[in-house]
Amino acid sequence: MTIFCTVDDKSIPLYRVMWVASTPHFCGAEDCEREGQYEIRLEQGESVWAKTQERDDMLHALESWQGGLGSQEEEWDH
Ligand SMILES: [Zn+2]
Repeated sequence: MTIFCTVDDKSIPLYRVMWVASTPHFCGAEDCEREGQYEIRLEQGESVWAKTQERDDMLHALESWQGGLGSQEEEWDH
């Protein structure tokens, strides 16, 4: 299976995801473009912003990836 999940038109490698917000962003700013979107935190302090459907897809992808990684994890030489 793929180790990428598409969020905000970007292919995000699942292994770079640190956490996924469980509640939509709200900061009260009038000009906020992220309101109602879910933050997906990546390594190195980066974030991407997911619509509800994208967040659900990401969570499903992460669940099946964790369960399905198995023996592929063993040796990465590079
Ligand atoms: Zn905001």
